[in-house]
This record gives sequence, structure tokens and C-alpha cells, in this order.
Amino acid sequence: MMDIEQFRKAGYEAIDRICDFYYRLEQKNVVADVEPGYLQNLLPAQAPEDGEDFKIIADEYQRLIVPGLTLWQHPSFFAYFPTACTFEGMLADLYASSACNPGFNWICSPACTELEVVVCDWAAKLLGLDKAFWNESKTGGGVIQTTASDSVLVATVAARSRYIRANPDADLSKLVIYVSSQTHSAGAKAALILGLTNRILDVTLDDNLALRGSTLRAALEEDMAAGKHPFILIATVGTTSTGAIDKLPEIFEVANDFPSLWVHIDAAWAGLSLVCPENRELCYLDRINKSATSFCTNFHKWGLTNFDCSVLWVRNRIDLTEALDITPTFLRSKHGDAGTVIDYRNWHLGLGRRFRSLKLWFVLRSYGVRGFQSYIRKGINLNRKFASLVRSSSEIALVTQPSLALSVFHVNAPMDAQDSISAQNSLTTAVYESLSARKDIQLTQTSVQGLTCIRFAVGAARTEERHIEKAFAIILEETKSAIRVFKMKGAP
Ligand SMILES: *Cc1c(COP(=O)(O)O)cnc(C)c1O
Repeated sequence: MMDIEQFRKAGYEAIDRICDFYYRLEQKNVVADVEPGYLQNLLPAQAPEDGEDFKIIADEYQRLIVPGLTLWQHPSFFAYFPTACTFEGMLADLYASSACNPGFNWICSPACTELEVVVCDWAAKLLGLDKAFWNESKTGGGVIQTTASDSVLVATVAARSRYIRANPDADLSKLVIYVSSQTHSAGAKAALILGLTNRILDVTLDDNLALRGSTLRAALEEDMAAGKHPFILIATVGTTSTGAIDKLPEIFEVANDFPSLWVHIDAAWAGLSLVCPENRELCYLDRINKSATSFCTNFHKWGLTNFDCSVLWVRNRIDLTEALDITPTFLRSKHGDAGTVIDYRNWHLGLGRRFRSLKLWFVLRSYGVRGFQSYIRKGINLNRKFASLVRSSSEIALVTQPSLALSVFHVNAPMDAQDSISAQNSLTTAVYESLSARKDIQLTQTSVQGLTCIRFAVGAARTEERHIEKAFAIILEETKSAIRVFKMKGAP
């Protein structure tokens, strides 16, 4: 067991090793070069009988664990959505864990709650969210959840509870959650967890995969006529697959006619683009401000804050507390009873919660609004660069319009291919497989209305133009070789 002085020494050493890791980041592979089960073979089957020296433990972290890490901070990481993290965030996590407490009530550690109240407002103002969503408003407010999936679940639970309070006789089995075919699986998961029906609304490539108001209206009317109870729509600003932005002006016009429908805006990734005023119209910020019931964005994706930090804002905090407030005697406190403080345990699913506001505070202060803006603009500009390289090539093509820092492309079928869609799909699959076999770059695949596609997501903090050029060159090289094989064999 470590004493304070041993901690000091091991702590300095840990920071040194982390710095070395970051200095060498670019020379390393993006993807871990290990096989499934690699670690089980290297570790004993149980914890040691007697405690071990920390030096050995730290060395084994270096030797056994680090090689099994996928380097999400690598400048050639273009998969999923990069989770840009910062040294400020790492230090905050260190301090937060030194103040270790479960944070469920204000009195658990007043600073933890109070800082969260303040930084959620800072974050709301950074994004241009209306004051209805600020904690300052005392009616709405923001809370840090673990993930955007938790935020969807919390919004759905709150919406269900609000609906049942207003319609006490409603048959619970007839409640319906609305999502589009592009909504993150968090929507389906919320339905699964709550045992509710999930109605999936169609979108088209002509609409760039955005949900339309008319589609929503037709479904709501049909379900109402069938005696069902629509109670929440999960709309998306920046879908995971292609970055599609649902047509919020149309959607809110429809929602006006269905006042009991909760509209949650899942902007897990694209929400951060709102820090730049030039993206606000594209993301319909005005409409969100005027009408959204809740809004969520992940600072742990494009927001420079170490995982996890998903901020959920609601227009009416009472919707959360009415749904989630259980206060047994042992959790009662003078301040909670008096209603003078926020007890965040009533704003999320669990009881205990980590001190996550500290990292958001460190990062927001260290970068400032301008720092955030230039980082977001850099990502968007790098993606523009990638998209223009794709447009200049005859071998690959964009499938949807590039969205902020995300492009989706596939391989063009050779002119003489008979069934061009199936040729395109098998070529794209072949290219994706060869890209996946490489360790020096990482991308993810997706499927868009039957088309096999590859996603290119910019956002790692260290990605520069040369990494974009290199990535494009690798993609092109793999594509050309897949096309050669295709032409030789008639199929890849
Ligand atoms: C990434 C993502 C999610 C899920 O994020 P978690 O925080 O991992 O739950 C949800 N919605 C969208 C649009 C996303 O891009």
C-alpha cells in the first residue's frame, strides 16, 4: 500500500510516462496489434495473495496494457467520432478522484454540485442555448450525465412520467417512442429497457437522411387514430452514421399540434459545432431554443473533455425531479428539504455520481470560447479538405453531403460493371477490409439505404492537414488495388 511520499514519487513517474506516450503518439500504430484474449493469457487468474510493489504494477501497465490500447488520440484516428481529450481534462480527473465522493446530494460535497450548476450554464452559453435551459433560470437547467445514451434514457423516463401525470388513464403498453432510421441505437435501447414500442420513421437519401415533418405527422396521426400514445420524439442534429440533421423547423411545427410530445434533441456529436456562430443556422439553434424539451451534447466527443461528459439540458427541471426523485429518510438533508439546493441524484438514473464538472471547468477555462471555436473550425476545415480530395478523385465518391467534420464515401464501380450497386458495395467492403487490416489508420463503415459506405470523422486534437493527405493517399491506394483485383477476377 502506498503512503503519501510513495504516491508523490509514483505520481511524478506516471506523468512522465504519460508525457512520453504523447511525445511518441504519432510514431505508434493507431490500432492495437493484439489478438482477442491476449491479456488473459498474460495475467494470473486471481489477484495476488500479498500486495505487490507499485513499481512492478506500473511497469506491467506499460508492458501489458499499453500495447492493447487503441489510440483514439492518434492524429490518424478517423473512426467513430474521435474523443478529443486534453491534459487539462486529465489533471481534472486526477484532482476529482483525489476528492473522491459519490456526489449524490449537495451536502456530499457542496463544491461538486455547485461547480456543475455553474459549468452547465457556461457550456449552455458557449453553445448559444437559450436561458430557459440555464440553471440560472431556476426552471430549466443542465446536468452532466455519463453518456448521450443515458441522456436519451433519462429524457424518455421523464417524458413518460410527464405523459402519465397528464393522462393517468393511458394504457402504458400503448406509449410510443419515435425515432428515425438514422437515430442512434440509444433510442432503441431506451425502448428496450423501458419495455416500450419504438416506431422507426423513414428518411430518404434525397433529403440527405433528415427526418421530415410530414413523415412524423403521418405516423403520429396514424398512431393516435389507433389509440396509441405518442409521448417522445428523439430527433437528431448530426446522426452517427452520416451527420444528418433532422428538419427541426418542420418537426417543431408538427410538434406544435401534439403538445404532449416531448422533443429530445440528440446532438451528441454535432452539438459542439454550435460554439461557432456560423454553424447555428445549419443546426437550427433558434428552433431548438424556442421549442426543444431537452437537448444533449457530448463534451467527451468533439468537446476536448475526457470521457465521460455528456451534458443534458431540460427546459423544465421539474420534469426530471418528478420522474426521478425518491428521497428516503437517510438521503434527506436540511438544504434539500428547503429546496435551496440542487440534489443532482434526482436528475439522473443512479444515486452516486462522479465529479465531472471539474474537467469541463478546467477545459473551458484553459481554451476559452476562442480556443473552442478555433478547434471546431479546424476540424470542419480538415474535413472540407478531405471532401475536396474525394471529389477530385474518380475512384471514390461522397455518398451524402459532408456534415461538419464527417464525410461518408464509397467506391465508384468501374464503368463496365453489370450490377453497379452490388459492384460498388463489394468493392467498398473490400477497401474497408484492407483498411481495417492496417494498423496505421482507423475508419469505420456504415450502411446508407443499402449502400455500403466508409465514414471519415475528423476530430482528434492532433490531426493536421498532412494526416488528411496521408489518409486520403492510403484510401486511394487501397481502392486502386481493390479495383485491380475486381477487374481481374470480376469480383473482389
Ligand atoms: C455517439 C452518439 C451517441 C451515443 O453516445 P454515448 O455518449 O456513447 O452514449 C448518441 N447519439 C449520437 C448522435 C451519437 O453520435
